[in-house]
Amino acid sequence: MIKVDVLVVGGGPAGSTCAYELSKRGFKVLLVDIKREIGTPVQCAEFVPIQLYHKYKEFFTQESIAQRVENMVHFTPWGEVGSMWSEGFVLNREVFDKNIALLATQRGTEIMLRTQFLGFEDGIVWLENIDRRERFPIKAHFVGGADGPRSKVARLTGEATRSFLTTAQATMPLKKPLKDLMIYFRDYIPGGYGWVFPKGNIANVGVGLDVDYPINPMESLRRFIEEVSGDGIVEKRVLKRTGGWIPADGLLNLIRNRVVLVGDAGGFCHPITGGGIANAILSGNMAAEHIAEGKIEDFEEEAREIFGNTLWRAAEKRKKYMKRWDNLKEIIPRTWIAFEEYWHII
Ligand SMILES: Cc1cc2nc3c(=O)[nH]c(=O)nc-3n(C[C@H](O)[C@H](O)[C@H](O)COP(=O)(O)OP(=O)(O)OC[C@H]3O[C@@H](n4cnc5c(N)ncnc54)[C@H](O)[C@@H]3O)c2cc1C
Repeated sequence: MIKVDVLVVGGGPAGSTCAYELSKRGFKVLLVDIKREIGTPVQCAEFVPIQLYHKYKEFFTQESIAQRVENMVHFTPWGEVGSMWSEGFVLNREVFDKNIALLATQRGTEIMLRTQFLGFEDGIVWLENIDRRERFPIKAHFVGGADGPRSKVARLTGEATRSFLTTAQATMPLKKPLKDLMIYFRDYIPGGYGWVFPKGNIANVGVGLDVDYPINPMESLRRFIEEVSGDGIVEKRVLKRTGGWIPADGLLNLIRNRVVLVGDAGGFCHPITGGGIANAILSGNMAAEHIAEGKIEDFEEEAREIFGNTLWRAAEKRKKYMKRWDNLKEIIPRTWIAFEEYWHII
């Protein structure tokens, strides 16, 4: 039977960072992912804040950066346009994710692709090689659950995110270059927002809406594309489509015995903005540090201290205001981070 110090389930930014940091410290790490290729397909609008770059320069190659941006401009249904400083990069996420995994392998992490986590049994983890339909056991001292928003590792430790945003996104040619991120609040995007995130001469155009509304995200996206192409922002031509789930409960219980949840699996994604890449990386790093120090139980405390309040505030606002999408002039300022009210009224 294969024996490792740490088994990491999921090769997104959370899992690869955790593996990288542990391998750097001499741990024997196995990282598994269902995918055939790390980073593909991309299910993301690809923006990360500049602070992440300053902390993890080695994760950013020139090819992983599509465009630098400085502001996030929002458009309300009542015609107000506001702007918030939001310096950062729109990534080529596929390249970015692959690079972190590559750094991990260079430090000694072994990666098995097309390998899915099945479950736990008497202190053993069962995996399956999907192509060969072959199940096999692994003995791991610790397990990192980094398997994304619908985490099976979390579920089997008795945890589960219950509220989600559902999304639909199209990558489209821009009519002219854009220098900022653009955010749209609309009645036809209930409990969420539409975005246009520029990547040079193309843009990610998407919608994220609360799953509790009986509205098909594809229909909402169709209307959003009508609007932004009608405004002359993008050409009405879809180059690529994607979508996915955004967890919106905030932090779960992060540790159960020797299993630790990081990234979206642990609820580190922001329940309102949907931003989760930076927190995935930071939580993967933090978990690795605590495992390495032999103090895994401190991970939960530190994670709550650093991320807990921010995520809790956003999750509470989602529950309180965003399940109804009627009086937008009151709801939007209370639920969007660019408004004063967001920070003063819970
Ligand atoms: C449409 C959309 C737009 C977004 N835009 C942004 C944005 O602009 N900026 C931002 O910061 N965040 C954004 N996010 C959120 C961001 O993508 C996530 O927060 C981030 O990917 C979380 O990283 P992760 O490593 O935790 O999980 P993931 O990136 O989801 O990685 C999880 C990995 O686990 C693997 N896996 C799943 N189940 C198993 C299993 N049973 N066995 C083995 N492997 C498994 C998956 O194949 C996957 O590779 C967006 C999300 C969506 C859906």
